[in-house]
Order: sequence, then structure tokens, then C-alpha cells
Amino acid sequence: MIKRLLVKPAKLTLLELLDKRMTLPAENKYYFLNLKKGYEGEVMFNTLTEKLSCDCHILNGLRFKFNNTIFQIDSMILTGPTLFMNEVKNMAGDYYYKDNHFYSINGEERKDPLVQMVRASSQLRQLIHSLGFQVKVEPNVVHVNPEFTLYQAPQNAPIIFPTQLHRYVNNLNTISTKLNRNHDLLTEKLISLYVEEDPYAQLPPYTYKGMRTGMTCGICDSFEITLHGKNGICEDCGHVETVEAIVLRNVWELKMLFPKLKITTNLVFDWCGGAVCRKTISRVLGKYFKIVGERRWVYYV
Ligand SMILES: [Zn+2]
Repeated sequence: MIKRLLVKPAKLTLLELLDKRMTLPAENKYYFLNLKKGYEGEVMFNTLTEKLSCDCHILNGLRFKFNNTIFQIDSMILTGPTLFMNEVKNMAGDYYYKDNHFYSINGEERKDPLVQMVRASSQLRQLIHSLGFQVKVEPNVVHVNPEFTLYQAPQNAPIIFPTQLHRYVNNLNTISTKLNRNHDLLTEKLISLYVEEDPYAQLPPYTYKGMRTGMTCGICDSFEITLHGKNGICEDCGHVETVEAIVLRNVWELKMLFPKLKITTNLVFDWCGGAVCRKTISRVLGKYFKIVGERRWVYYV
């Protein structure tokens, strides 16, 4: 049973919006693409674990602070005897181990997922122990990308390869021990200790002026939207949406990117690239937001 749903990190959403409306500096683009790939891997793994039929609690994407260290656990599956901690990786390509170090096939040393997993599992064990629970933590690095190959993997290393994923999940399903009140308490405690990440930290600097304005398609992110009466049609993918829905989504983007900006009809008019008349924008804002102020000083929250 899923106790904590997998949610897209707000930081990833913000980077997607920035990538759409400005040119991300190379290092931010690299970071964004990695974050996106990592999240897609977690989604992939989640589609397998959400079907688990054994008595278990599934906790996705938790982040904790313990001993002044922040650590994140992609997926935890709490079963009767064991808590399975999964460090999910969506890497593609060929890698190898040599003298306990992890390299890509071109000989560049990379961050070793096993080291990351050992660190996180040690923190998790200490955290659980400090809460007064006795649970065996079994960590695994789970590779979900079928294009991933690892040569010279250390023998018996806790790695689940893409070809073993289904077997891993099927084995979990054979666990017949039932969860008890203690497991419920541990799950509740872990969820309550979640430390939210500031999604605006570590973003590249950006300004309203530096953004490409204009309405974008909800499916393909294209700026090529033409209006036909009450609807907008995407010239690139053919997606049809009401103007109201398009305006609302673009206002949401504006609020995400610039939480301190006051939402006014003129601002949204500009943000939507002048394609929708002020009257319509005013009507949509008035319908979904609270009006603050009077006359020319009106803004929406
Ligand atoms: Zn489209």
C-alpha cells in the first residue's frame, strides 16, 4: 500500500518552466536533464512497486535531516521483517568497477551509486534507531534503465539490474509476514520527518524580462497557439484547450516562477504575449482568484 505518493519535485517543475522560457546556462541544463532523468526512473520503478500485493508500506521520495546531514531516499518498502531501501538509478550506457571505483566506459570516474547508497542507508538506520524502532534495513541500488550495463560489478553487491527488476518485485510479493501497529507508527513517524527542499535554491538567476513570454501548449510546450473563439489550438501537436484553461495554466507558471509578483490583468496580458484580450483575462482572474484592491490598483491572489 502506498503511504507516500511519488510527487514531481517542485524544483524540477521550475527548471522545466525556465528551460522553456529561457536558455539555461550549460551547468544548469546538465543538472536539469539529470534531475529529469532521475525522476523518470523513479516513475518507472513506481509503476512496478505500486502493484505489490504483499502487506507493505511504500514510501516514495522522502528527505530527512539527521545529524546535521540531509539525505534522500528514493523508495522505501516496509515489510514485516525488513525495510527495503531503494536507491533508484536511471543511468544509460556502459560502466565498470576497477579497484573499488566506478567509471564510465570512457574511463571517467563517476559518483559511485553504491557509496551513495551505503551513506544513505547508514543515516536511515541511525534515524530509525534514534526513533526507538528495531527494523532491519536492506539497501539496494536499483537500475531501471534497460540500456545500462555494468562490467566487473563487485560480487554480491546489492545491485538490482534492469533484467532482475521483475524478479525483485516478485520476491517481495512472496513475503507473507503481516505488518503490525509498530510498522504503522514507524511509517507515520518517517512521513512526519520529511524535510521539504527549497525549490528556489540553486536555480540559475532569472528575471521576468529575461523570459520568453507567450502562451504555451499544455501537452508539448509549443508557443504556437492560435485562438479560435473560446478555444486555443496548438499548431504543433493539434491539442485543443479552452482559452480559460490556457490562461489559468500560464498564470500558474507565472506564479511559480515569480511568487512575489502581483498578478494583474496587464501583467498576465503581457505574459500571454498579448494574444488574449484584457477583458477575457480579467474575467478568468476574477473567476478563479481573490480580488485585492480597487480600480487600477487591483491585483489577484
Ligand atoms: Zn502542443
